[in-house]
Amino acid sequence: MLGEYTAWVAVGVIFFLYGIVIGSFLNVVIFRIPIKENITLTRSHCMTCGYTIAWYDLVPVFSWLFLKGKCRHCGSKISIQYPIIEAANGIIYLIIYLLNDFNNNPVETILYCACASALLALSVIDWRTQEIPFGINIFIFILGLIRLLTDLGNWSEYVIGFCAVSGFLCLLILFGHFILKKEVMGFGDVKLMAATGLLLGWKLIIPAFFIGCILGSVIHLTIMAVKKGTDHVLAFGPYLSMGVFIIMLWGEQLVSWYLKMWTFL
Ligand SMILES: [Zn+2]
Repeated sequence: MLGEYTAWVAVGVIFFLYGIVIGSFLNVVIFRIPIKENITLTRSHCMTCGYTIAWYDLVPVFSWLFLKGKCRHCGSKISIQYPIIEAANGIIYLIIYLLNDFNNNPVETILYCACASALLALSVIDWRTQEIPFGINIFIFILGLIRLLTDLGNWSEYVIGFCAVSGFLCLLILFGHFILKKEVMGFGDVKLMAATGLLLGWKLIIPAFFIGCILGSVIHLTIMAVKKGTDHVLAFGPYLSMGVFIIMLWGEQLVSWYLKMWTFL
């Protein structure tokens, strides 16, 4: 019994540390994709002086703290985004591990971790540039394909998730374009929902989308109120990502709770 518990804790620690290391790579993705710099070939370097960062200064979180957020070479400030994204990704992996049944469904836990990292990166990029990189959507789509291929017994769940969501959102965009005469949503968002629809299946992607819309409207209206109605462009990616993330963690419970509520009425 004790052995089982120790193993459970040990795997949790591994998830956390692995999350931090992947978080370090996410920073590279977040900074380089918008400026179209190669994300694998060039070594990590200072954004100000271009100095190649030594391996001992690349330890996630700790290096930033040790160097007090400054480049060892030129002393210019290193964005606090680095340790924040690293720590956040570690915590996200740990939460997914704690709330998913890793022992019974390790594939799902690992795919969800990978997807959460992609969501984190695209949220930051979308927030800054109003654009979701196509490569990240493709990455989530590949995760969805892996899910489909490893769970062929439920193939229709995932295929319907993909088709229904992309169909519905394309209609929504056409409706907005021709009837409301405004852009209700970008195609980057549609691709994101289609890819996550393939990964989660239709039963979970529908509530994920609605949670994203609710969060988006509430937070957006709050920002508008605080900033006194400056027309801040709404980046939808971060909210849709939050919806997907919440559903990855509590989807089954939320759906059964929702269905029960209707049977009571
Ligand atoms: Zn420097």
